[in-house]
Amino acid sequence: MLNFSFIMTVLSQRIENLSESQTIKMAKLGRELSAKGISVINLSFGEPDFSTPQYIKDAAKDAMDKNFTYYTPVSGYPDLRKAIADKLKRENNLDYTFDQIVVSTGAKQSLANAILCIINPGDELIVPTPYWVSYSEMVKLAEGISVFIDATVENNFKITPQQLEAAITPRTKMFMFSSPCNPTGSVYSKEELEGLVKVFEKYPNIYIISDEIYEHINFVGGHHSIAQFASIKNRVIVVNGFSKSFAMTGWRIGYMAASKEIANACDKLQGQITSGSCSITQKAAVAACNGGLKSVHEMRDAFQKRRDLVYGLLTEIDGVKVNLPDGAFYFFPDITAFLGKSFNGTPINTAEDLSLFILNEAHVSTVTGEAFGNPDCIRISYAASEEELITAMSNIKKALSQLV
Ligand code: PMP
Ligand code: GLU
Repeated sequence: MLNFSFIMTVLSQRIENLSESQTIKMAKLGRELSAKGISVINLSFGEPDFSTPQYIKDAAKDAMDKNFTYYTPVSGYPDLRKAIADKLKRENNLDYTFDQIVVSTGAKQSLANAILCIINPGDELIVPTPYWVSYSEMVKLAEGISVFIDATVENNFKITPQQLEAAITPRTKMFMFSSPCNPTGSVYSKEELEGLVKVFEKYPNIYIISDEIYEHINFVGGHHSIAQFASIKNRVIVVNGFSKSFAMTGWRIGYMAASKEIANACDKLQGQITSGSCSITQKAAVAACNGGLKSVHEMRDAFQKRRDLVYGLLTEIDGVKVNLPDGAFYFFPDITAFLGKSFNGTPINTAEDLSLFILNEAHVSTVTGEAFGNPDCIRISYAASEEELITAMSNIKKALSQLV
């Protein structure tokens, strides 16, 4: 008999190398505490606490009644792709034809599609830190190399054209960022984007993933897409979705707009992995695209009120250094003043230690900044009610005051 005992490991190197999503992990830990009867305020998960607007839910019910329950085209129903192309023209002044749109199971899948279709092993992908948790892990899956550029609180967590150019090497294949940014809430202005575009114009082989999922949760009066610059548009992959703007996280739908070459590649990849996104969700998304922005703006206004509330409360906590975010629904405070302290003899040495301490003592779940590429900070989502936010900030303040 042949001896196959050398094949010992069940799991692939690929999955062994992958880190668990910290946003999901912290939400899970929070739920576990809740199950033990401890009331935990969840500020770890980036998820609007609003209900999906009724007209979107009605469209889903109608879709079921009309038997939109079969497989869909891999890239999405033509009417949805057309509605998305119309939205991109109407709201962003971007020209895309419907066959340049690929609808996916969340913006998360659109990001993974784009990375897997463009990155070869060893290719470098530039990511400004802090970045959204899954970016670096998706790059690992594609066997690419993340090259980080540090954006600091002093520069409102935005990178400069000089920083970008200094990070470019002959192996650079991609640049990837979100604006409004998760986790910092920073928003790039048109002028700031133009500065980056001038650099990209010099390097025609670099592709750009522009994650615009927080487009509508923007407190500076308007969203700007880097795809608006004609000189680089063909190299931009715009990623967006319905989770945040329309409070549709559980429906799992997002999309990309890109050159036909990239869109066709993503269609091919998706066709082998998941096929088209849920048929009922797609019909709901058509209603979302065509239903106007009234409820979107109501939710944005509520987020802005909460941002102001939490900013006031956070700045009252000694040792917490925080900037005023322009969009999304997160604070990303610097908490280095607390590192090296301890609680009842247990040392708090890292942002993860602090985040776990806040969970266990203040019963508020947050996420360590390490997961976003910045170990000096923690992320606090303010997608919760004003009442919960007031209690959470008061509990955090009290817990932090006990560190010595
Ligand atoms: N990009 C960013 C920056 C996010 O915060 C999220 C949140 N989940 C996503 C993409 C993915 O969104 P979804 O898959 O729910 O569309
Ligand atoms: N985007 C959200 C967050 O950053 C949802 C969690 C996730 O998809 O990882 O918390």
